[in-house]
Amino acid sequence: MTALLDELKMLIRHKGPITVERYMELALAHPEYGYYMSRDPFGAAGDFTTAPEISQMFGELLGLWAAEVWTSMGKPNPVQLIELGPGRGTLMSDALRAARIMPEFRAAIEVWLMETSPTLAAMQHELLLDAGVAIAWAQSLKEIPQGPSIVLGNEFLDALPLRQFVRVRGQWRERTIRLNDAGELAFDVAAEPEPYIRANARDGEVLEVNPAGHRFMFELGARLVTQGGAALLVDYGHAATGFGDTLQALRAHRFVDPLDMPGECDLTAHVDFAAMARSAAATGAKVYGPVDQGDFLTAIGLDLRAKALADRAGPERAEELKLARNRLVGKGKGEMGSLFKVMAVANRKLPEPPGFRPVVAASA
Ligand code: SAH
Repeated sequence: MTALLDELKMLIRHKGPITVERYMELALAHPEYGYYMSRDPFGAAGDFTTAPEISQMFGELLGLWAAEVWTSMGKPNPVQLIELGPGRGTLMSDALRAARIMPEFRAAIEVWLMETSPTLAAMQHELLLDAGVAIAWAQSLKEIPQGPSIVLGNEFLDALPLRQFVRVRGQWRERTIRLNDAGELAFDVAAEPEPYIRANARDGEVLEVNPAGHRFMFELGARLVTQGGAALLVDYGHAATGFGDTLQALRAHRFVDPLDMPGECDLTAHVDFAAMARSAAATGAKVYGPVDQGDFLTAIGLDLRAKALADRAGPERAEELKLARNRLVGKGKGEMGSLFKVMAVANRKLPEPPGFRPVVAASA
């Protein structure tokens, strides 16, 4: 029994069923017991591993991507380098190190970390203490002063609470969580249908809508349109909108029941990139992709980077680099190359950002 489970049961007992959206919000961001609020969930000892935690190459390549976009923006000084949900701060640390090859860019950077977890913000602070650039924190985009920006976000959108609707006898009903006869959490559907949802589907299908994601894409697009700049969003999800329940919970690298141990496991959902792209495009921003993470990283030079690092390292480290490279770009089971997708949102005045054209193999 977790402290949050107790609290949720009491809430439902007194106020009635809660929506999946509210459940996810409380499980992840409850000020005291929320999953991200109190712990470091990453790495081998944690619940899941992310691309920047797998290899320094991920953050380094994103740093070089940012430097190239900055050049195409006409080298504004200052420029904001914003990261969404930076976790341990590893991606930013690697990106800033890689940016050393372009001192002009590094000198122009003002780093903004958008983070809601005080525990993770403290870790980011410690890791980036010696980075040699000005760093500030914000909890939302609105708090970050106006100005041209380059925005990076890895596994940010998947952590935003989403709503689910279930098709029941020809009508959509919001998916809720109630207490069953044994007093345990159980999925249910709301009594009232949602007749304004026009999508048609077979009974039992689940439709997911991410209101927080849409709000965020509107804000992001509007900012890039008026202030200039580009954003890169990397996440696991699907390129086309479809039906299906994608809510999942991870604990110690294993899938668990999303209703088990709220606050003690990571709760995420697949990102509907097509839906996110529609909201960003509605602001007048230009959307690129999504493309597979494997193709994107290959296009921006992962193999060259892996080779450069391996040439300088011993055989053991070279093997490690090869494994990391394969995990990031491979498209097989357990690999991230096609499960994860990359999408860019940019001001229309900018040329196409790097990484969105397939690499053409050099002919022999
Ligand atoms: N980007 C990191 C961490 C991904 S986990 C990595 O790739 O390793 C999700 C991150 O987003 C965590 O840092 C979490 O605290 C943060 N987060 C979740 N919801 C958020 C929100 N609404 N605003 C800002 N940060 C959020």
